[in-house]
Amino acid sequence: MGTTLQSASDRYGQLVTHLHLQADLAAALHLLQWDQETYMPAGVAGSRARQIGTLAAALHERRTSPRFLDLVDELAGRQTDLESWQAVDVRETKWRADRQRALESDLVRERSQLHAEARGRWVEAREADDFELLRPYLKRIVEMEQRVARCIDASRDPYEVLLESYEPGMTVKALEDCFERLRTDLQGLVGALPAAGEDGATPTVLQGDFPLDSQRSFNTQVARAIGFDFNKGRLDVAVHPFTMSIGDDVRLTTRYDQTDLRYSLYSTIHEAGHGLYEQGLDPEAHGLPRGTACSLGVHESQSRLWENLVGRSTGFWEYFLPLAKTTFAPLQAASLKAVVHAANETRRSFIRTEADELTYNLHIILRFDLERALIAGQLAVADLPEAWAAHMRQHLGIVPPSNRDGVLQDVHWASGAIGYFPTYTLGNVYAAELATAAEHDIGSFHDLMVRGEFIELLRWLRTHVHRLGQTYRGHALVAAALGREPGPHALVDHLERKNRMMKEL
Ligand code: ZN
Repeated sequence: MGTTLQSASDRYGQLVTHLHLQADLAAALHLLQWDQETYMPAGVAGSRARQIGTLAAALHERRTSPRFLDLVDELAGRQTDLESWQAVDVRETKWRADRQRALESDLVRERSQLHAEARGRWVEAREADDFELLRPYLKRIVEMEQRVARCIDASRDPYEVLLESYEPGMTVKALEDCFERLRTDLQGLVGALPAAGEDGATPTVLQGDFPLDSQRSFNTQVARAIGFDFNKGRLDVAVHPFTMSIGDDVRLTTRYDQTDLRYSLYSTIHEAGHGLYEQGLDPEAHGLPRGTACSLGVHESQSRLWENLVGRSTGFWEYFLPLAKTTFAPLQAASLKAVVHAANETRRSFIRTEADELTYNLHIILRFDLERALIAGQLAVADLPEAWAAHMRQHLGIVPPSNRDGVLQDVHWASGAIGYFPTYTLGNVYAAELATAAEHDIGSFHDLMVRGEFIELLRWLRTHVHRLGQTYRGHALVAAALGREPGPHALVDHLERKNRMMKEL
């Protein structure tokens, strides 16, 4: 620090300059990654990986430079001299900086190398349906994550420390309470489903011949109708759909199946939900925590709300069925009932990403149980396939025929992402709660949707979620929107209502 102490406000201005520069580097990195997953020709994979590595290292250097960290520490000590909105940026930047610097750079390097190797092994193990190929790597990953948690905060439950990488402020206790209640309530609904193999034999009306060009056109019109701004975004194709923000440019991706309209439509609406959140962040706070999405759980609440509570509803189809009929020949004679039924098909299945709205949460609770036991040292990696099968039998009443349909299906653990899975169900929980609060304020979703007035809901979400960025942590943000603590009741209610509706269709 110089001889004259600069005002806190001036120092905050310097922090903003640093954060803007980091955000621009991150945007360039994201553009390279987006291209890697969409249009990059296969032959340049090697040079692209190097370019991404170079930019990632440059960004890491900025984020860990002593000048930057000293500034963050200084401002954190002068928070009372800052405006409350400035203090939000300082608080969140400091929290991330502290977590980052708790990890020695050798550990960071070792960890990312381990993840890269394990991901490669996961691809092979899954193809060969051989858990043994992945097992030693997974064991090292569990040990690595235990070590990472200890470095960040040895005094706390290591699983909670890891969970906070994705959901800052969330506690294991709160999650356990929520998931226990869900486990009990949802198992009753799942128990009423037909036994495995006794369902899904007859194709639904959303299966047939749906030409890709027509799907593309229909999906684009749906995304536009719910408010996605194509002037500041795109919709392309990727094997595993995702959304990537390149600054204020939001790129959605989807995947197509010519024989089933549901794949591309629902992945488009899901990703558009993520995209609407990104497009709704405060442009004045671009690149700052106030202008950055709050948490993975809140992000997922936006995608799930649009996908499930809007896109699978009767009101949605009342509005879109006429357009669907003129777009797709197989739907010309389809009834509203048949389409809504097809959009809400529920069945026990092995694969999480193909699971319906109801059983999906049980797939997540299973992973939450297992990964917590792994980190606590109560479950050995070698026993994972057996534990997986036992949990599947207990929760869903089915046992996967192979590890490929079981423990090898997801890339998360092999990528070192332990503590990530719960945010998916947290997203469902928050989505149902936010939908209830929004309906209370703006009126029946059904009535709005029948008229195509999706923008009313978007406006509500802009005010209560999008514009706030990281002003609050996830749980507190949802609590502020509701005026009370969020819980699993709204999700259970929603699923019970849907279950009754399906029986009547
Ligand atoms: Zn998502």
